Amino acid sequence: MNDSNNSGDKTLTVPPSKTLSLKRPVEQGVVRQSFSHGRSKAVVVEKVKRRAHETSKAPAPAAPASGAPRPASPPPAAPSQSAPPPRPPAKPTAPRPQTGVVLRTLTEDERDARARALNEARLREEEDRRRQEADARARAEREARERAEREAADSRKKEEETRLAREAEAKRKAEDEARRRLSPTSAPASEPEPEHGLSLAPAAGSRGKPQQIIFNAPRPAAPPPAASSASAPAPASSEARPAPAAASPGGLAPRRPILAPKLAVPAVKPTRTGEMKQRGRLTVTNALQSEGDERTRSVAAFRRRTQRMKGVVEQKERLSREVVLPETITIQELANRMSERGVDVIKLLMRQGQMHKITDVIDADTAELIAVELGHSVKRVAESDVEEGLFDTADADEQLVSRPPVVTIMGHVDHGKTSLLDAIRQANVVSGEAGGITQHIGAYQVQSPLGGKITFIDTPGHAAFTAMRARGAKVTDIVVLVVAADDGVMPQTIEAISHAKAAGVPLIVAINKIDKPDAKPERVRTELLQYEVQVESLGGETLEVEVSAKQRLNLDKLLEAITLQAEVLDLRANPDRSAEGTVIEARLDRGRGPVATVLVQRGSLAVGNIVVAGAQWGRVRALIDDKGHNCVHAGPSFPAEVLGFNGAPEAGDRVAVVESEARAREITEYRERQKREQAAVRGGSARSSLADMMSQLKTAGRKEFPLVVKGDVQGSVEAIIAALEKLGNDEVAARVIHAGVGGITESDISLAEASKAAVIGFNVRAHKEAREAAEKLGIEIRYYNIIYNLVDDVKSAMSGLLPPTLRETMLGNAEIREVFAISKIGKVAGCLVTDGMVERGQHVRLIRDNVVVHEGKLSTLKRFKDEVKEVVAGMECGMAFENYQDMRQGDVIECYRVEEIKRSL
Ligand code: GDP
Ligand code: MG
Repeated sequence: MNDSNNSGDKTLTVPPSKTLSLKRPVEQGVVRQSFSHGRSKAVVVEKVKRRAHETSKAPAPAAPASGAPRPASPPPAAPSQSAPPPRPPAKPTAPRPQTGVVLRTLTEDERDARARALNEARLREEEDRRRQEADARARAEREARERAEREAADSRKKEEETRLAREAEAKRKAEDEARRRLSPTSAPASEPEPEHGLSLAPAAGSRGKPQQIIFNAPRPAAPPPAASSASAPAPASSEARPAPAAASPGGLAPRRPILAPKLAVPAVKPTRTGEMKQRGRLTVTNALQSEGDERTRSVAAFRRRTQRMKGVVEQKERLSREVVLPETITIQELANRMSERGVDVIKLLMRQGQMHKITDVIDADTAELIAVELGHSVKRVAESDVEEGLFDTADADEQLVSRPPVVTIMGHVDHGKTSLLDAIRQANVVSGEAGGITQHIGAYQVQSPLGGKITFIDTPGHAAFTAMRARGAKVTDIVVLVVAADDGVMPQTIEAISHAKAAGVPLIVAINKIDKPDAKPERVRTELLQYEVQVESLGGETLEVEVSAKQRLNLDKLLEAITLQAEVLDLRANPDRSAEGTVIEARLDRGRGPVATVLVQRGSLAVGNIVVAGAQWGRVRALIDDKGHNCVHAGPSFPAEVLGFNGAPEAGDRVAVVESEARAREITEYRERQKREQAAVRGGSARSSLADMMSQLKTAGRKEFPLVVKGDVQGSVEAIIAALEKLGNDEVAARVIHAGVGGITESDISLAEASKAAVIGFNVRAHKEAREAAEKLGIEIRYYNIIYNLVDDVKSAMSGLLPPTLRETMLGNAEIREVFAISKIGKVAGCLVTDGMVERGQHVRLIRDNVVVHEGKLSTLKRFKDEVKEVVAGMECGMAFENYQDMRQGDVIECYRVEEIKRSL
């Protein structure tokens, strides 16, 4: 029933939209049912055929029918035109052919009844018309005024409305008559039908089959009306059409919508529920009756479609952006920078077989692929760009003024480096300053006897020197190579030479300890020749000075030589620019916070400058020179302690002055990130690649000797680490799990405990709490002040980790003569010791036909009834083995001793 109702609705909507006439054949047999939520479905309806007839019939009877009974159309037509008079005649004429057609099948009574009904209707309509004419006239006047405004905009709408209204009227009329028909008998049912060929559809819809039968019945007769539709109705329709066309500018359009509901609602009782339903539905879709069903059915579908279309459009309209790509980027950030959805990026990656989360980090290459794929251009930037312009901006030649040379003293251990440095300083202080040196800093300046100054740097060793150089800090201008005259060239002397050469720094040889009786400076000179160091006295270019640190001999000469060498080097720098320098050493001072000894290399460092060093930055709070005086400026080659860093930088870090805190932060944050990443790479190598895993497997058997190292200055710590790393072999290695500057703290202890490490303090002591914690946890803290002692100790400790070498010592052989089975004991072999001796508890091999069948230990050794410790050659004995019974006559027993031999590195 619902379906038929809907079909009724459909016929209502279909005819008005004449443009949809093509649809009718398409929708034949199918009615689209729509629901308020926007979905629709097609329903097959039985009235397909009839509808086809209706349509064929429709033009003919509908037009006249609508023209005839329509009470609405005539009145406005009347005022606007002379339409009303022609219409009433048209009405009777129009139904007549129809009635004629139908009447053939009707009885006389029926015909009478019908005629009566028609008459009544006509009378009523006449009255109605008259009444409405008055209304319409008044309205027409009003409308005439509005007409001009409306007509252009409304013309199309009106056409549709006209059609709709006409149809509604037809329907209403049909229903009127149906009602009338109902009142006399069931017979009239057939009466209105012919009259309302088209408009009956709703009625038919509501009433269903009986009408179908009726329709089928008149069909044979239909051709005549169809013929008339070509002739008679044609004028009628043409009449009807011009009428609305003419009237539409006038009053038809507004009139009909007003009238149609007015009449339809009260008149159509049987279909009222259906209409109510329809209207409920229609309000949702906003009165789209006349707009066809496409939009009605697809509120959601429409939205989806527009979205789909929009998606396509977006792709086309997508802006191409320049995407700035750092070395790594998260997918989220990449999507943001492209103004794309993260999901799209992930989809793209998936298509390439990579599964990622939105928070995953991808490298710049992948990111670039994605960005290009999505139609963006890419600008690759390196994070290190933040460091751009930080160092090495060239100075104009005329700005350069000469600067003091920076000297490093190197040499073998105990050749007198420290003594010499101290001697030079002391001598200088004595001659210059009355107050003496208040504190030791890693570098100091002295006055040269030739005028000018010389800067000495106290590096803990050449390892540290090279470590600093490796970080790009070329600090030293001249290396003073100390060689003890009584000792000659030693391994570290040679190392120092190669380090200096690698750095391209000129050497000055200081032959020390010439005060010693066994001093042989000549030997030193000749020995040096082997290492391509040709001193002046041997016709070379390398300056050499014989000194005695202890007795302060020839120190002036050394300083002179340095000054001469510096003149050759022509060392110059621009003092009037923002400073650049290098951290010589840094430490955390209890009272002063991080203290960095900085050697200024170019420009001038001033209090208040914002400095960056490694991953640390700070505002220079104070500058303290080597004599403990505060100074305001530190020029080129001037070493000064810098206070104000927010953390201790590392020795060898390059120092630069930057213009703002923001820039300082930017740089240090970048460096910190880099450090972290490097640490992560080092720490995470286990899972990084298969190759790494393989190498790890190879070294899996390697034992590690974990250490926590704390030192007084960064340089020492680095030297210690370097020395420790050199220890070890394939089987054992030292591993410094933590190294730092400062006293040993509780956290060091807990770290040591966690990794079962030993704690080493170099020139530092443990805090009280740390000491207590170490005692409690049984962790050894060892203090050193000489690196070599430290290294030797670690070496011997590591040696303890080496597995001992096993050495076999042959003892003797025995032959089994007979095997006895003894209850409780098991089998016992009666043997003759053929050579050497056998010993209880020692290792034995059982050899049968020159094949070793058992290896084990000799558990029992008996001579007669007594247990004995050993049996020598030529004697007989009884033997039993540990966990072995299967000895046989004729087997040979080989007895040997295994010795463990301790190894060392
Ligand atoms: P470093 O390891 O190179 O720093 O050598 P040191 O400066 O610690 O000196 C090692 C030892 O050599 C100390 O005992 C010094 O007293 C001694 N020494 C250093 N210079 C001289 C010198 O010119 N003459 C003599 N006789 N002994 C010296
Ligand atoms: Mg020393």
